[in-house]
Amino acid sequence: MEAQGRFKVLIAGAGITGLTLAHCLEKADIDYTLFDKGIIAPPFGNTITIFPHGIRILHQLDFLNQIKNQSAPMGGSNCRGSNGKIFAACEKYFTVLRSLTGYDTRTIGRQEFLQLMYDRLPDKRKVFERARVERVVTENSKIRLVLADGREFIGDLLVGADGVHSKVRELMWNNATRIVPTMKTTYAAIVGLSMPMSDLETFEAVVNTSHNKISFLIIYRRKFGEEDMKVLIEKIADYPITEKVKFAELWENRTRAQMVSLEEGVFDHWFLDRIVLAGDAAHKVTPNSGFGGSTAMEDAVSIANAIHTAITTCVHRRPNDEEIRSILQHYQESRIRRAKRIVKVGGEMTRRQAYDGWMNYLQYRCAPKLTFVEFKEEQGLLRWGDHKLRKKGQQRYVKLLLSLGYSLEERIGLPKELDSCVYVGDNDLRYVFIMIASQKSRRQVVLIEPRGLTDSGLLSLLEHTKCSYWVGGSSSYTDLKKDVLETRTEIALSTLPPLRHFFQDEKAQDYTFVATWNEIKANPVFVVQSSGTTGDPRPLSYSLEMSTVGTFSRRLPDGSEENPELRFTGIHGTRVFEAIPIWPPCHEAPLTPAPIITEILRKIQPDGGFYVPSTIRELCLKEESLQLLKKQTYLMYGGAPLDEWVGDLLCTEVDFHVVVGSTETSRWPLRKLQDPREWRYYWIDERLGYRLEHVDGDLYELALERKPEWRRFQGAFIMFPTLDIYHTQDLYTPHPTKPGHVRYRGRKDDLLKLTWLAKVRASDLEEHFNMQPNIRAAMVGGNGKPSPFLIIEPETDKELGLEEVQSTIKLLNQSLSPDICIPLQNVIIASAERPLVRLGKGTLDRRRTIDDYKEEIERLYI
Ligand SMILES: Cc1cc2nc3c(=O)[nH]c(=O)nc-3n(C[C@H](O)[C@H](O)[C@H](O)COP(=O)(O)OP(=O)(O)OC[C@H]3O[C@@H](n4cnc5c(N)ncnc54)[C@H](O)[C@@H]3O)c2cc1C
Repeated sequence: MEAQGRFKVLIAGAGITGLTLAHCLEKADIDYTLFDKGIIAPPFGNTITIFPHGIRILHQLDFLNQIKNQSAPMGGSNCRGSNGKIFAACEKYFTVLRSLTGYDTRTIGRQEFLQLMYDRLPDKRKVFERARVERVVTENSKIRLVLADGREFIGDLLVGADGVHSKVRELMWNNATRIVPTMKTTYAAIVGLSMPMSDLETFEAVVNTSHNKISFLIIYRRKFGEEDMKVLIEKIADYPITEKVKFAELWENRTRAQMVSLEEGVFDHWFLDRIVLAGDAAHKVTPNSGFGGSTAMEDAVSIANAIHTAITTCVHRRPNDEEIRSILQHYQESRIRRAKRIVKVGGEMTRRQAYDGWMNYLQYRCAPKLTFVEFKEEQGLLRWGDHKLRKKGQQRYVKLLLSLGYSLEERIGLPKELDSCVYVGDNDLRYVFIMIASQKSRRQVVLIEPRGLTDSGLLSLLEHTKCSYWVGGSSSYTDLKKDVLETRTEIALSTLPPLRHFFQDEKAQDYTFVATWNEIKANPVFVVQSSGTTGDPRPLSYSLEMSTVGTFSRRLPDGSEENPELRFTGIHGTRVFEAIPIWPPCHEAPLTPAPIITEILRKIQPDGGFYVPSTIRELCLKEESLQLLKKQTYLMYGGAPLDEWVGDLLCTEVDFHVVVGSTETSRWPLRKLQDPREWRYYWIDERLGYRLEHVDGDLYELALERKPEWRRFQGAFIMFPTLDIYHTQDLYTPHPTKPGHVRYRGRKDDLLKLTWLAKVRASDLEEHFNMQPNIRAAMVGGNGKPSPFLIIEPETDKELGLEEVQSTIKLLNQSLSPDICIPLQNVIIASAERPLVRLGKGTLDRRRTIDDYKEEIERLYI
């Protein structure tokens, strides 16, 4: 028996439906186990024709190219009379289908197709062959599956993808203590595979060719046994299949042939409790139309969409019985009408081609046509993305996104090659949505941090990113840098409506965007700047892949399972209170004050929250807010280290999730500490390519080594594809006894991050003071503080007064963006007994100097 874990889907049957579902669940990051009573891709069955709705699903599942390589597109269809001559031809049918849908209709060997699907599954340990499902027990909101050999498996949902004679369907009806319904069977068929024949043209009705095989299907109106098959074959031996080839030749060339009965029909009930049917187990179409497989694939996609919705919208990713019932009901309702229509047109086609009665004979001779079932955009699209958001009250956000897409297009038009637009506005949701909307309109958005950016830095950034639009969240943001932009007439200014405008109740028109992950993962999405205090900031372009580094970090590189040790495991699907700004504030806006955060916590009682350390510190100072903090299961923090006393106070009360990373690398996944009292340490996962390079004493710089198989965890190498080693510039001290545990000690370089996440490069500012004759050395600090501070060491033989230093600061501040200026009172004059500490090479030892002046520094910020 298996232990309880995350939501698990058990799939009975590894045919087209089961394998498609397994791929969809892989994509949706949902656990599953797949059972088949036989072997995968058995060596029977002939070819299978896949229509565009199926091909599109295969495209979304990322194996369109392999399918193309192993299959041939259908080109047309001929109908022949008893003399073998063509009396009607549908030459354009498949071309029209292609022009309507964008995909060919393709024929591929059935065994090859199933094998390909299986080979592409990343973790074969989830697939059990020779595992016949025999019994099913629904108990305690779980499914217990018993195999014929006695093995048992526990899951949350059982999908019966076990074909037309479905055992799961039988068990489902038995569970409901009802008589098992059956399907009607009017026809039987001989299906076979033959070697290529030189005189046989490529396209024949009920004869398909794939790369190197001819498959045939002889439909007969009743069931019959082996003996009858012989009689039938003799009877039709002289029938011409073309003007030159008779059926007997095809038969002699056969490599295999078998009889099958052709059931047809759609069941009215597709689910019970936690059991659901898909593919031929739920509906069966006669084979002439070639729709059965593609329709089964659509079922698989719909079920995966339904499960994904249920998991992502319910608390703790574990839908209860009622939620399961509701999604299965929705699945059935969304599929049953289409399935009935497909079975009907398939049946009509079979009857015509079998000349079943005069009406059918006349219809087929006078107006032969291939069937066409409406190709609906909605059907069979993997929907996590926009569509999942439509559920459960989140329609508002989808609407916001759609209207924002149009609003952007209206204001700034469609993108020219590789151009970009700046967006700057209030700290609201438009920042998030504008990034998604820009992906849809394929234009990258430049997100600037005006508080830490000089005018020349801004201009250089705009030039590097080929910026042609400046979009403000309101007119004051549009005009924010109007004077600087005056010389750049190529940059057009525009203002976006306020957030509430996008929440209006009008119906939003779809802003469609259909692509596979592989097609778009390298698309640039947004550009952020590296620090640009005084010099020019560097633009850092985030591709879609780069921006998902964090999202993927729960999974191991082989995609096999969730890594229980990676720290972010456990927060997905919970309610998170995001108390940090969506984007660094532009104006003199402080972080949300503690009393407001307290009020919010009281009202919404989230499972966890994301805070900057200074906010956590403030919340710990009052009993009420401290208790509210402790009520949360986890606390995420980042941007600066946590105060020691705060960490000690909370570490055993809540789970800490420290967000470590950088603009260049995105987030680094960390392992979950076994002892929470060791919160000062990060447990780095060495498999991710981390290594420590010795710098000085007990200090080591953390570096990251490229590991191609861990790419989705290694943002640094997505951002800088030519690098093999990335140096983080962050200094750590290893734990005395625990391998892989490191404690943050500061930066190797001099980059400071102020509380509100603005960045200041200290040496840029220090240079200004070091040039003064009566100053021996200057050090600027302020990591995790609201503003920078300055420690000045005077030349030993020179006089230096505070006013003199302050007038130098005033001069420097004039050249700085106002938000990172050094406040005049933030100055410490170093005493002769405590000079600035230097490393061997004479460079400043910033960490030790800060230790020496710890008290004075603290006093500056009281
Ligand atoms: C002659 C013929 C030609 C066809 N041609 C086409 C075509 O050209 N294009 C097209 O789209 N469709 C075609 N179809 C239809 C298509 O084959 C089916 O719709 C499709 O195979 C259904 O897939 P499925 O996975 O639901 O079922 P199946 O393919 O039947 O797979 C069911 C799987 O479940 C397994 N299983 C059964 N019972 C158990 C159990 N108790 N425990 C565990 N595993 C079990 C089986 O071993 C099997 O692997 C054709 C059908 C026929 C009969």
